[in-house]
Parts: sequence; structure tokens; C-alpha cells
Amino acid sequence: MAELDKTQREVGVPGDWTYATAPESRDIVHIADRYGFFVGGEWLEPTETYETIAPRDEEPLAAVGQATPEDVGRAVAAAREAYADGWSSLPGSERAKYLFRIARLLQERSREFAVLESLNGGKPIKESRDVDLPLAAAHFFYYAGWADKLEYAFANRRPRAVGVAGQIIPWNFPLLMLAWKIAPALACGNTVVLKPAETTPLTALLFCDVLRQAELPPGVVNIITGDGRTGAAIVESEDVDKIAFTGSTEVGKEIQRRLAGSSKRLTLELGGKAANVVFDDAALDQAVEGIVNGIYFNQGHVCCAGSRLFVQESIYEPLVAKLERRLTTLRVGDPLDKNTDVGAINSAAQLEKIHELVASGKEEGAEIYQPPCVLPEKGYWFAPTVFTNVAQSYRIAQEEIFGPVLSVLTFRTPEEALEKANNTPYGLSAGVWTEKGSRILWMAQRLRAGVVWANTYNRFDPASPFGGYKESGFGREGGKHGLEPYLRFEE
Ligand code: NDP
Repeated sequence: MAELDKTQREVGVPGDWTYATAPESRDIVHIADRYGFFVGGEWLEPTETYETIAPRDEEPLAAVGQATPEDVGRAVAAAREAYADGWSSLPGSERAKYLFRIARLLQERSREFAVLESLNGGKPIKESRDVDLPLAAAHFFYYAGWADKLEYAFANRRPRAVGVAGQIIPWNFPLLMLAWKIAPALACGNTVVLKPAETTPLTALLFCDVLRQAELPPGVVNIITGDGRTGAAIVESEDVDKIAFTGSTEVGKEIQRRLAGSSKRLTLELGGKAANVVFDDAALDQAVEGIVNGIYFNQGHVCCAGSRLFVQESIYEPLVAKLERRLTTLRVGDPLDKNTDVGAINSAAQLEKIHELVASGKEEGAEIYQPPCVLPEKGYWFAPTVFTNVAQSYRIAQEEIFGPVLSVLTFRTPEEALEKANNTPYGLSAGVWTEKGSRILWMAQRLRAGVVWANTYNRFDPASPFGGYKESGFGREGGKHGLEPYLRFEE
């Protein structure tokens, strides 16, 4: 006993219970100094490059090609050739084999991809490891399953591929958005030219190596990099049959204007300003977890983020107190640390936009709360933020901030909650927290949002369609619905 006492005294009782760092090693990823364009199964040399960096410390990672309209033309020609040269007429069961291979390779290489995603994009490794990568692989598995069943999915309608799909994706879920776009396109027999966002090209470029390992025929998937000019060149390319775009409402509208009158098909997945509605009978601790997940997941760089919180007046004070207390436990810092909850803001431009909107919130009269946290000196960072005392007319309640910033508003009756929740130009997603099943159904039927989560938030499954109303765009991705934009029907 005396011996035990002595040992305990020597070890001592820790006075500080904060987490020690648990950094993921970045050595698993090899990043080349310079990348070209993956066209027709080969790497094309770019004439111009730009530098892609790590937002956590602004470390330069690689030189990446800026594709010109001529480069876009080469990629589209390679996709057209591959389409005509066998891919579109390959039996669905054969196309499925490639998709299954890609899915398995993503699983096998998931750690490598997760590290690269967090490094180039700034999101916490636990999110890229536990959400982005498993979901990206799941999308390929899911659509592999449909490839040989299209005739059954659309009985008596003779589904055929559309042709060459031009796909433009954003920086918030780089690999996952790639999977959402490429998997259904290939399952339906189309070929693809895809452009990742300017700030996050690296996982799409690493994906080219997966395509090589999977022995996908050359030209079926072509990846080109560059800024908005490259995206515009894809949209304008004569030989593209379909455009699939995810990004800002502003650029989405511009694309729609350009394609008006053309025969090109279009799907748009745009911004959002989702309402997360908490009724007074909800399980408050669970709701707080859902609210935190809804707005601070991926630093709030999420189109369906629950950025407007509507709280029933009778529980406003306890809920806000619980929420603010929970915020003090969020760990903000290195995206490669496995303990990090909130990583780096994706770019200097996005950080500036967040600062600008937060300043407008203060000026308009909202009350700001940020938990005490020390932000790293280098890189792009923003502390988790809650605004209370927000009026519906404030910019922070109207505009998509796309950062870790929550606006809290109140309501008294379900009718008032509904009216306020729908008072937005967007309509992508919403959340409802209540014990009553009937109220969930009542709200879900009336909320003008493509996805409504009940007593949870940010749940995704490849079998479930996702997409918006109003200025959040049109068309669905995921599920059987996600096949339709990539098919035409011979009557
Ligand atoms: P953009 O809409 O500009 O970017 C989305 C994609 O479109 C990127 O690949 C981009 O290229 C490309 N692009 C840009 N301009 C054109 C064009 N004229 N024609 C065709 N493609 C184009 O979003 P940002 O990155 O500028 O972000 C701005 C705001 O948009 C954010 O603050 C956020 O509010 C919102 N956003 C919403 C997203 C969503 O999922 N709903 C995703 C991303 C942003 P490049 O990256 O090279 O500019």
C-alpha cells in the first residue's frame, strides 16, 4: 500500500486536462512539384501555372496548370473520342467493374487522400478521414450498382447516355464533389471533363492515379485545372452535351444565362442559408450537438450549413447558454491534428468575405459571441462565432457567409417558424428538432428545402437525392434521381 502511495505521488495528478496534439503524418502523400492536365490518359504540359498552397500555414504545395480554352478543347476532344470509341456502348456490367475498382482503390488509399484533402483544403483530418473519403467511395459503389440496371430503373423508357459531361466543382468538398459528379456520369455511359476549384486541385489530380490503377480507358475521365476562366471555357465548349455545376449562386446564374437557348443540359447545385428550427420539446443537448455539427462542420464551408438557427422563445436562454458553453470545447487548429474540430478557412479571399459579413452583423446591431481560443499566427483562421439579437433583415441572416458563423433568431409558434424559415431566396436544406413526429411531418411538408433533416443534421447517403429549390439550383444528385441528368430517353 505504501508502495502504491509512493507511485501515485511520483506520477502526480495532472492539473491541465487539455488535449495533447495528435498530428497525422503527411509523409504518406507524395506531392509532385508540378502538375499538368490529365487528358486522354496522358499528362499534358501546361503553358501557364499557378501555386496551390496549404491554408493552415500558406505553405506552397505545388505548381498547377492554368488550362486555356485550347487545353479545354483537347480535353473535350479526348472525352468525345472515348465516348464514341466504345465507352458509351460498353455493357453496363463492364462499366460497373471500373466503378467498383475505383471505389475499392479509394478505400485502400483513403488515408493518403484524407491527408491531402486536409492539407490542401484546410478541413480537419477527422472529417476528411471519416466523412469525405468513406462517402466518396460509397458513391462509386452505389452508382456501380446502377450501371447494369438502368433499363429496370427507367422501365419502358430506353435510357441512353447523354454524351460528354463538363463538370465544375467547388473547394469545400473537393473529392466528394468529384465523386458525386463522376460516378453517376460514368455509370450512365457518359465521358467527363472535370475542373476542380482553383484552391483545391490536389485530390482531383491524385485521383488520376486511381484512374490509371483502375485501368479506366483513356479519355473517359479528363481532369483539367485552372481558375474561373477554365470553367467558363468548359461551359462554352461546343462539343459538351451537359454541364453539371456546384458553386456560388452568382456563377450558377451566369452559367444559366450563357446556356440559355443552347441544347446543353444543365444542373446547378448552388448556395444556401438553411434554417435549423428548434422547438421547446426538443432534446436540448442533442439539438446543441446538431446545431454545432450543422454550422461548424467543415468551418461552415457547406452549402447546406444550418446557418440560421430558429429557437422557440421559451427555450431561448437555456439553449443559447448550452450552445455557448459547447463552443468553448471546440478545438480550432491544425487540420492534420486528429483532435481538431474546426480547421483552417480555405483561402484568403474566403476569410475576407467572412470578416466583411461579420463586421456587417456587428454594425447592424447583432451581439457577437466567440469562445476564447488562440488562433495560429500563419494561415487563415476564424473562431467559431454565434450572433444573437439578429433581425431577419440583417445581412448575416440573408446572405451565405460560408464560414463558422451562426445567426440565432427566435419564434413563438410553428407557423411563425415556418414563415421565417422560408423567408430566404435559397432552398437547399433545413433541420427540425422536436419530440413530436406529427410536427416533423407538418414542417417537412411546408419547408421549401430540398432536404429536411429531423432531429439530426448533415446526414448524407449516396442513395438519397440532394439538391435545391429557388436560388439553390435545380436537379438532384444522389439516388436514382441522380442518374436522370446523365440520361436521355429514346421513346
Ligand atoms: P465559385 O462559384 O466561383 O466557384 C465554383 C466553381 O466554379 C470553381 O471551380 C470555380 O473556379 C468555377 N468558376 C468560377 N467562375 C466561373 C465561371 N464564370 N464559369 C464557370 N465556372 C466558374 O465559388 P467561389 O469559390 O468563388 O466562392 C464564392 C462563394 O460561393 C463562397 O463564399 C460561397 O458563399 C459560395 N460557394 C458555394 C458553394 C456551394 O457548394 N454551394 C461552393 C463554393 C462556394 P475557381 O475555383 O477556379 O474560381
